[in-house]
Amino acid sequence: MNLNYEMLFENLKKLEVTRMAEVLSSAAEDAAAKEASYTEFLAVLVDAELIARKERSITMRTRLAGLPYLKTIEDFDFAFQPSIDKKRIKELSTLRFIANGENLVITGPPGVGKSHIAIGLGLKAIAAGHRVYFTTATGMVSSLIKAFQESKFEHRMKTYTSPALLIIDEVGYLPLDRTGANLFFQLISRRYEKGSIILTSNKSFTEWGEVFSDTVLASAILDRLLHHATTINIKGESYRLKEI
Ligand code: ADP
Ligand code: MG
Repeated sequence: MNLNYEMLFENLKKLEVTRMAEVLSSAAEDAAAKEASYTEFLAVLVDAELIARKERSITMRTRLAGLPYLKTIEDFDFAFQPSIDKKRIKELSTLRFIANGENLVITGPPGVGKSHIAIGLGLKAIAAGHRVYFTTATGMVSSLIKAFQESKFEHRMKTYTSPALLIIDEVGYLPLDRTGANLFFQLISRRYEKGSIILTSNKSFTEWGEVFSDTVLASAILDRLLHHATTINIKGESYRLKEI
């Protein structure tokens, strides 16, 4: 009996079902105490393994997403920011917009919760099994320029086109030059009607001509971005200045 147990434990580890190996002893004791059937016993082990795998996958995808901080929609104090319609955030939380390849554009002044909401929705998407990638607008553009110089442009482009959800934060904090604006446009075009984008900006759409150093390019970007999109304009006080 002992020999069987040792062998089974080692074999489970060899098969890389590590959680099954970990819970084997307690699950076997439990099953004996409850006089559980063989199938019940096996079901408990398999369930434990599947749960562990899902957790590992969420942890891994959270790490790969490159979120600057981890805060959830549940952490968000809607009472502090009454200009945000909670029902719309609830609707977005169902992630239907990702299934439909739609975008979300959040505008507003600094500190009102734009990034927080983007990150919170990103975490929901990760929990639901999606791949998510977070970048700032300038981070993305400079990374694409660098990749171009190193002949890795197409490869780097995939970083931004392949996730089900791309979060582009802080559009407008720093204006982009023509090269940057062109790269930005290319990215938006490639994701257009394929994958969702959450974009945040401190600039209203009328100011995007300055952000992209070109009004024609700015309207081409806006055209694609807003074609299938929800827009949320947050008007309110900075949460960072709340206690001052
Ligand atoms: P921005 O609009 O500049 O992107 P952030 O979303 O990063 O601002 O918010 C700034 C900080 O304040 C973050 O730590 C964020 O979690 C917090 N914060 C902003 N609004 C709220 C809110 N309504 N409830 C809870 N925390 C908030
Ligand atoms: Mg922000």
